Amino acid sequence: MRKQIAAANWKMNLTLQQGEALLDGIISKPHSLKENQQAVFAVPFPYLAMAQAKLAGKQNVFVAAQNCYSKKSGAYTGEVSVEMLQSLGIQYVVLGHSERREYFHESNQLLADKVNICLEFKMLPIFCCGEPLAIREANTQNEYVAKQLEESLYHLSPDQVQQIVIAYEPIWAIGTGKTASSDQAQEMHAFIRSQLAGKYGVAIADSISILYGGSVKAANAVEIFSQPDVDGGLVGGAALLVDEFVAIINALK
Ligand code: PEP
Repeated sequence: MRKQIAAANWKMNLTLQQGEALLDGIISKPHSLKENQQAVFAVPFPYLAMAQAKLAGKQNVFVAAQNCYSKKSGAYTGEVSVEMLQSLGIQYVVLGHSERREYFHESNQLLADKVNICLEFKMLPIFCCGEPLAIREANTQNEYVAKQLEESLYHLSPDQVQQIVIAYEPIWAIGTGKTASSDQAQEMHAFIRSQLAGKYGVAIADSISILYGGSVKAANAVEIFSQPDVDGGLVGGAALLVDEFVAIINALK
């Protein structure tokens, strides 16, 4: 059974104290994670150790970094290596979020390098893909997303690609309050899975979790997550609110 994941992306929000209070609030609420379900908290770098300590021993709960650098170590002032994350016990890294692609010019090729270094250090990438509004309006979103997958992932071996979690995030739905309809989400998730099947075979494609991201909230999570190819969500705004995110965790199938 595929992993079903509720992943919180805090982005560049919250002070340390606010982050602590948010995690305390979430873990104090009743939520049940079945064996195939996970909650993941992608927190800013300075809060990783705090989040690791607070969530230690909680079953099926993981901390993620929001980014990493593509090199092992060295003179890259201001960057954070995968080995550093590994030394903190972090297991997931979000890669290629659309904000990083847009504001920090992360290319498909750079992301391929980041994917490689993550896998070398046994870190699991949550690889984001998704099209901007103009591409959706031109109805060329399939080609656009297929290229992102091809250029950043298709050099991987079948064993390696199974370590990847994919997050489909249509850019026009991120932080805008506009959600893709559950049909639109399912359509793209099924397309991504068919592409993976074409490259790696159906069994491998069926084993890869594909999360939806874009204005997921408590009110729409059940419907979106119930789609057969949607395996949970990557959540921004609603992940900053205790009750919202707990409800999103509880909406996993
Ligand atoms: C995100 O940060 O990846 C995201 C999908 O944000 P939001 O849920 O606020 O749209």
